[in-house]
Amino acid sequence: MRHATILTAPLLAAFFAGSPGAASAAPTLKGRAVWANPREAGTTEATVVAYVEQLAKAHVNTLIMELKTSTGIFWPSERFAPAVVAEYKAFDLPAVLIRECHKRGIAFHVWFFDFAEGGDSYVAQQHPEWLALSPAGKPTTAEVLRGQPYRMAWMCPARRPGYTDQWLIPLIREFAERYDVDAIHHDYVRYPGDLAPDTYCYCDYCLEEIPKYASYYSTAHPDHPLLNRMDRPHLEAHWETSPKVLPPNWKDYGREMKSRLLLEGTSFPGGNSDLDYFF
Ligand SMILES: [Zn+2]
Repeated sequence: MRHATILTAPLLAAFFAGSPGAASAAPTLKGRAVWANPREAGTTEATVVAYVEQLAKAHVNTLIMELKTSTGIFWPSERFAPAVVAEYKAFDLPAVLIRECHKRGIAFHVWFFDFAEGGDSYVAQQHPEWLALSPAGKPTTAEVLRGQPYRMAWMCPARRPGYTDQWLIPLIREFAERYDVDAIHHDYVRYPGDLAPDTYCYCDYCLEEIPKYASYYSTAHPDHPLLNRMDRPHLEAHWETSPKVLPPNWKDYGREMKSRLLLEGTSFPGGNSDLDYFF
């Protein structure tokens, strides 16, 4: 049973191109949403009014508009001014969109790219220390994907202070306080799966934090070997001796050595390679 459908812009265009009768027929679906890009709504009051009018004619009742993409943000923020896309520095797109949507009974949802920035976006350029890093210490922009340089700069979600608490959350908060938005959609809330989810993030912060979250060492008894009697046939059966996964000279390991141990190491020296733990 279908309660809702989401049309992307090309599908909507195809819908409008159908018979006039189809567009004016009474809707049968409860939720009739459109995913959209700011370029489709334009950069003036007149283009936004025409755009929302078109949505209303198509019986759309929810607009989901991306306003933070890999290129920047699409509202005239003062706090994040350098990241605002040029055409939207003077024109308050969300204010006009929301006013026109609500006037016609259309819910307005904003859609954010959370952790995926563009390689030349303001924040990626200004804060390279917030980028997610591979075991080799390189950001995602150093990758080649399908024969092309990879242009997305994925940001480390874990680092504090970092991208999440210094940039993303304040930016979302600003939007929510400033506009009468009905819902916020979060996209790219993950690691770069098209590169490989376990190859990021190994920034300095994550290399410290992953073993902590995974309980790979004892904070209560940092210097105690925590050894126990080996009185069972299976090595991995001696689980009470955990947590003592990190080698005593962990701090002297380089980034690639640390990353390799976290991905390929073993909880029991000589046992199965069972770690494979990553953020
Ligand atoms: Zn990280």
